[in-house]
Amino acid sequence: MAANPQKPVLKVLLCSPRGFCAGVVRAIESVERALAIYGAPVYVRHEIVHNRYVVESLKAKGAIFVEDLAEIPDSGAPVIFSAHGVPRAIPEEATRRQLLAFDATCPLVTKVHREAEIHFRREREIVLIGHAGHPEVIGTMGQLPAGSITLVQTIDDAKTFTPRDECKLAYVTQTTLSVEDTAAMVEVLKRRFPQIVGPHKEDICYATTNRQEAVKRVAPVVDALIVVGAPNSSNSQRLKEVAERAGCPRAFLVQRAADIEWQALDAVATLGVTAGASAPEVLVEEVLGALAERYALDIETVSAAEEGMFFPLPRPLREEQAAE
Ligand code: SF4
Repeated sequence: MAANPQKPVLKVLLCSPRGFCAGVVRAIESVERALAIYGAPVYVRHEIVHNRYVVESLKAKGAIFVEDLAEIPDSGAPVIFSAHGVPRAIPEEATRRQLLAFDATCPLVTKVHREAEIHFRREREIVLIGHAGHPEVIGTMGQLPAGSITLVQTIDDAKTFTPRDECKLAYVTQTTLSVEDTAAMVEVLKRRFPQIVGPHKEDICYATTNRQEAVKRVAPVVDALIVVGAPNSSNSQRLKEVAERAGCPRAFLVQRAADIEWQALDAVATLGVTAGASAPEVLVEEVLGALAERYALDIETVSAAEEGMFFPLPRPLREEQAAE
């Protein structure tokens, strides 16, 4: 992009990949598809993905977001479970109430649920590396009876965890963690319990890994980095942390352009920009537009990986689509 002499020049390193992953696209399309097939309202348990813009857009189309199935009347309207996954008790309750339920849990989260089940059937005690309170962690722990899974959140937790039987031990992880932090915790567990069983291929998903990798490439050469994403989005928070650890002096998480602290960018000559997996590209464009109002932007894309991942819609929604 040509520099405008009227404005100060700002070099922007735009991370790629950034923003929506295949699991988020599938979850949002599930709600849109259900709205198209059944009409409004379509109930969604929890934010379908952690992004206010996405949630408000779907609300405007007729989605109603609830945290508890008890909030849904027996009206025949469908309910969709969010991309983060749900404890087993939720689909069971939906079945009991004969709700028309669709599960938009990301297939990569479901894969972790299945791993945990296999470990449980093999009578292994399970360590889940993740963050307490995150819906994905609640969903994964809720796949199995209480007490089957122990949450490990920090290196200290990994150092002090005492298994019932270290010969019958396994671990799984949340999909949206810091790759390096998780590797460090796994290393501690493996050192202490050499027989611990883990995933064949790590549980941190391709989208989290690739977005962190792109941030690691730009972090050492930028003065600051903007992560477009929500405060309750785990992978967005991790991008901010990864940037700071990889040498970026300051990283900011913004939901929209209105959140940018312009004074903080005063001395910035080179700015990194990325977006969490639940942040739509339209919000990145909004941020770039706001930057372009103040600076002559010189934008360069820094690519860490090509992504072609695609997850088909939940089967019933797919079949309804095919029948049209
Ligand atoms: S961030 Fe990863 S696990 Fe989460 S929805 Fe996207 S692809 Fe699935």
